Amino acid sequence: MGRLLAWQLARAGHRVAVFEAGGADAQNSPARIAAAMLAPLAESAITEPSVVEMGRYALTRWPQLLAQLTQPVFFQQEGTLILWHRQDAPEARRFAGQLQATNETQPALPRLQALDGAGVRQLEPSLENRFTQGLYLPGEGQLDNRQLLAALLHELQAMQVQLHWGSPRAPQDFQPGQPQQPDWVFDCRGLGAQAQWPQLRGIRGEVARLHAPDVSLSRPTRLIHPRYPIYIAPKQDHVFVIGATEIESNDLSPPSVRSTLELLSAAYAVHPGFAEARILEIATQCRPTLPDNLPAIRRLGPRSLQINGLYRHGFMISPAVLDAAMELVQHQTTTLADSLDLRVESAPA
Ligand SMILES: Cc1cc2nc3c(=O)[nH]c(=O)nc-3n(C[C@H](O)[C@H](O)[C@H](O)COP(=O)(O)OP(=O)(O)OC[C@H]3O[C@@H](n4cnc5c(N)ncnc54)[C@H](O)[C@@H]3O)c2cc1C
Repeated sequence: MGRLLAWQLARAGHRVAVFEAGGADAQNSPARIAAAMLAPLAESAITEPSVVEMGRYALTRWPQLLAQLTQPVFFQQEGTLILWHRQDAPEARRFAGQLQATNETQPALPRLQALDGAGVRQLEPSLENRFTQGLYLPGEGQLDNRQLLAALLHELQAMQVQLHWGSPRAPQDFQPGQPQQPDWVFDCRGLGAQAQWPQLRGIRGEVARLHAPDVSLSRPTRLIHPRYPIYIAPKQDHVFVIGATEIESNDLSPPSVRSTLELLSAAYAVHPGFAEARILEIATQCRPTLPDNLPAIRRLGPRSLQINGLYRHGFMISPAVLDAAMELVQHQTTTLADSLDLRVESAPA
């Protein structure tokens, strides 16, 4: 969020400085390990209509934003495939019902399609006959988050934005509007903002990154399972992100054996080609989350904004949050946030 905002502010002609606690490689950020799926209909089973609308907004906004970058960033809209094993059919029916309800209330989203075995095979031939049913969510997207972070960094450097690595800051370190001080301050620190925004909590996520030359999947594939719902998000060159656990905890310790076993077994159950995959990385990060699991923009003062609570939807909703923040800078008000039901609030005095 911070990199996106710094970039757009610099493009709008502002002089921008970025203070980042970590390094240029974003090692401390969940943004680095995320799957970066842009799946508003799939996510509607577990989130509010406002987040779904922000996700729909992103699917048209990301191509415009990516077109402004010098470096290419992998982005596709090949939809999402949902699969389940026979014994999980009741859970799949419940899930399909939730998505159908979303299609009724948010008709601008492409409609869910039920697939038989032949339909699954047609979309993903390498799954052969392993699944006799599935769901297809057309138009859903994904991007390569690491390419995006690198491409944004490149733009910031090219525009001579001041970049301060290893430089933790807090909003109270600045007095916006005072002499020798910035005009505006934006706090996009994720869980780093917890001291000033104590309602924030971390939701631990563990993911595996695999290189699987024997597996070809063209789109993010989600497996419905009562204990460990997982997704397989293909990146370029047979790299796959297998994720993710969702554990109510600020715990950033290394991935557990149990989580790793569950993620890898579920991937192998979808496609046996994962047996010979090579494990590139298994990583843990915590998603910055507010009590209602919804994002918020919070005014700390007339020229100071905090943006947080992006939870498991940072890539899916950041274009909407970005554009709303830019409106606030320009006009002190945002019609976009109103229309998308994105919360803009004042910090308690
Ligand atoms: C396993 C996993 C899978 C995910 N998959 C998806 C997905 O498929 N789709 C999707 O849309 N989202 C996904 N997400 C969510 C997404 O990664 C987050 O919503 C997003 O990264 C939040 O962005 P942010 O910029 O608000 O915070 P962060 O990404 O947490 O960035 C905050 C930055 O602030 C820095 N910082 C912290 N404290 C300070 C300080 N005091 N001073 C200066 N800098 C500081 C940190 O080092 C960090 O770089 C996933 C997350 C996880 C963990």
